[in-house]
Amino acid sequence: MRLSSMKKKCHDSTRKARSFSLRFFRKEAPKNVMQRQEKALEALEARNLLRRLRRVDFASGTSIGLEGRKLISFCANDYLGLAHHPALKAAATQAIGDWGVGAGASRLISGHSRLYEALEAGLAALKGTEAALVFSSGYAANSGALGAIIEKGDLVLADRLNHASLMEACRRSEGHFRIYRHKDIAQLRHLLEKRKKNQVVWIVTDGVFSMDGDCAPLQEILRLADTHEAYIYLDDAHATGVLGPHGGGLADECQLSSPRLIQMGSLSKALGGLGGFVAGSRTLIQYLINKARPFIYSTALPPSILAAGLAALELLEKAPSLREQLWKNRDYFHEKAQALGFDTLGSETPIVPILIGESQKALDFSERLCQAGFFVPAIRPPTVPEGSARLRITFSASHSQVQIEALLKHLEAIARDLQVL
Ligand SMILES: *Cc1c(COP(=O)(O)O)cnc(C)c1O
Repeated sequence: MRLSSMKKKCHDSTRKARSFSLRFFRKEAPKNVMQRQEKALEALEARNLLRRLRRVDFASGTSIGLEGRKLISFCANDYLGLAHHPALKAAATQAIGDWGVGAGASRLISGHSRLYEALEAGLAALKGTEAALVFSSGYAANSGALGAIIEKGDLVLADRLNHASLMEACRRSEGHFRIYRHKDIAQLRHLLEKRKKNQVVWIVTDGVFSMDGDCAPLQEILRLADTHEAYIYLDDAHATGVLGPHGGGLADECQLSSPRLIQMGSLSKALGGLGGFVAGSRTLIQYLINKARPFIYSTALPPSILAAGLAALELLEKAPSLREQLWKNRDYFHEKAQALGFDTLGSETPIVPILIGESQKALDFSERLCQAGFFVPAIRPPTVPEGSARLRITFSASHSQVQIEALLKHLEAIARDLQVL
């Protein structure tokens, strides 16, 4: 409708506008772009870096139907098995009955259900902060919060292995962006010592690194932040619900709290649903409500997903056995994998990578595991550094010992075959 009226308008108008309209509708232009895109895809394929989507026909706990095969999934970040938990399903279903399916508009336009307030109060309590703000995803939380808090002239220091959403938000900001080597406290100190006087400094780090499964040295980072009056933005997407006596994340695990610390988390991983959040002071949250663009300009989450989040928070408190089972599963596998001689890259959490090296070999390994009945993804550059393609195995409280034993057996056999061991 718009295009045709625009075309008509152009047609009736000056010659210049007419040539614009012709160029706009000429066939070659899209063809050129298509060729460019095809070339880019071919280049990815030549380097074994082409990604494709795979169809899942059913999912029930750790069992999934992937393109005609029934597999045991070792790739979800659903650490506590909450994505399929009856309490979350019941809460979500009830909320659909009570509130409907969609939220209708952004929270600043149409208000927010009281489920939001309850969920944010619960998340703030979990993180030990004054307040919290829920975004539509962890990605949106990082993009929105970092985009709002980093101002022109600030110094931004980020770990090299941070999640892409952090890196992108830092890079897009108007701050001076510097990357330090993975967990390298000496380099971080050096960068802090070189800061300009009165410059605001942000240290941005994953709590649990998503492709390596190791943890940030939070205590040392916090000490540095205190000495140099810097602020920390901690992405606890994989730590929330997993680490700490209350499942509060890395700060809970280390028994640390600080007014210099901003904690971000995801509701999409251990909490089994969808959404991201930022926890900190009341001032910070008020500021984000006013300044974080992905919060302001995006529709609120559906009530069902908020209710599921609330049910998940309740389970964190009431069912610590889920967390215990998760760690039991992870520790059992990790010990055996190490004994077999696999390089697990310093994993300390339910994310256990197995280093392969070449992308093609990692893909072959993953395919062989698939044929044997296991869904374990190969992770390749640019998600991980060149030459460090790997299998990424994630554990859940829902895995059984039999499933883990079977995985170990096949991992060993395939590794010997592909000369990884
Ligand atoms: C998954 C992830 C995110 C994004 O969270 P979503 O809720 O999936 O959008 C952000 N940071 C890290 C470290 C993650 O692993």
